[in-house]
Amino acid sequence: MTGDATYYRKGFGLRAEVQQTLTADYDGHLVDLLLAREHTLTAGPVTVRLAKEFGFCYGVERAVEYAYQTRAKFPDRRIFLAGEIIHNPHVNAKLKEMGIAFLGASPTGFDYTPVEAADVVILPAFGVTIHDFETLRARGCVVVDTTCGSVLNVWKRVEVYAKEGFTALIHGKYYHEETRATASQVEKHPGGTYLVVRDMAQAEDVMAYIAGGFAGGRDAFLAKYAHAASPHFDPDIHLRRIGAANQTTMLARESLAIGEAVGATMARVHGDPYRAEHFRTFDTICSATQDRQDAVNTLLQEPLDVMVVVGGYNSSNTISLAALCAERVTTYHIEDALGIDPSAGVIRHRDLGSGQERELAAWLPTDRAIRVGLTAGASTPNNKIGETVARILATRGIDPATVV
Ligand code: SF4
Repeated sequence: MTGDATYYRKGFGLRAEVQQTLTADYDGHLVDLLLAREHTLTAGPVTVRLAKEFGFCYGVERAVEYAYQTRAKFPDRRIFLAGEIIHNPHVNAKLKEMGIAFLGASPTGFDYTPVEAADVVILPAFGVTIHDFETLRARGCVVVDTTCGSVLNVWKRVEVYAKEGFTALIHGKYYHEETRATASQVEKHPGGTYLVVRDMAQAEDVMAYIAGGFAGGRDAFLAKYAHAASPHFDPDIHLRRIGAANQTTMLARESLAIGEAVGATMARVHGDPYRAEHFRTFDTICSATQDRQDAVNTLLQEPLDVMVVVGGYNSSNTISLAALCAERVTTYHIEDALGIDPSAGVIRHRDLGSGQERELAAWLPTDRAIRVGLTAGASTPNNKIGETVARILATRGIDPATVV
């Protein structure tokens, strides 16, 4: 598809032209200091420890750069984005300032009604469904596809499952753009089927069904999961051959555990030869997600008073990082640096249990020296991480401008 004058997915060769703007928009001085000092910054009684891997991943960097290149390449055209390029409010606001408009949702995907043949549409790093892609191509506009290579790898895997008659059992969030796009890949083969499970508890329902022990049987299973499965999904037929995959940003540990447990259930119920024939698994967590989760696990081995995780509230990989941290230390997932109000001593954060936003006063101990752990999701730029450091310091009365 590359080489077609209306379809691009390898850049426009304008990196040098946009690099200065990107640096101005997203780089952070305090993060540079942290990087120069082995991810440690001490000012007065506060020590900030930044995880070794954090923030923008290769897929997001590429997508954002490609959006900037698109603006440079087509200065006079209307440019649209299918949804959010990544889940970061700051980055999306910057793109809006550049005159890039965001397409809203429709019942079947995105609403492409405003798009005309002379326009340009950017597809996000998570990709779009086959239906969306085909709808867009039919409009004849220029399509700039920033779908991450790691997402494309999952799509290939899911497509192979569908081709070989395996139901793609996807560990993910059925409403997340990436998972919707991934699930749609089964449509490339007649009869291709998917089922999305959000966590181990839902995977246990699948295992119970395979073992004949799901309370309420087929109707109850369909009532619970029809919204997260192919329209023709029938658990009596489609849980016989299963191929496990996952949204790239889930908790890696849980994805692996789900794959192993479903395979083990098939072996227990039907025997090892059946499992060998009827079950496939493939780790489709992307390396950037894995590296960030590994880095946070390493950081959590140190004594920390609190952990701050920065990233959009709807950012799957950020939520996974926050969940890991919360197992070991008091953790605050903030959407942006503005979630910390130094003068009031308040933090506004996403409660990990309810998913609701909460405000908490006196969140940072003020009577002793403290160590604050810090990481950020793959869609958080360095300047927002640096601002977060500044606000943490200011909460303890330290002027960030004095930190050099
Ligand atoms: S989190 Fe992984 S799959 Fe998603 S854009 Fe980043 S590198 Fe690609």
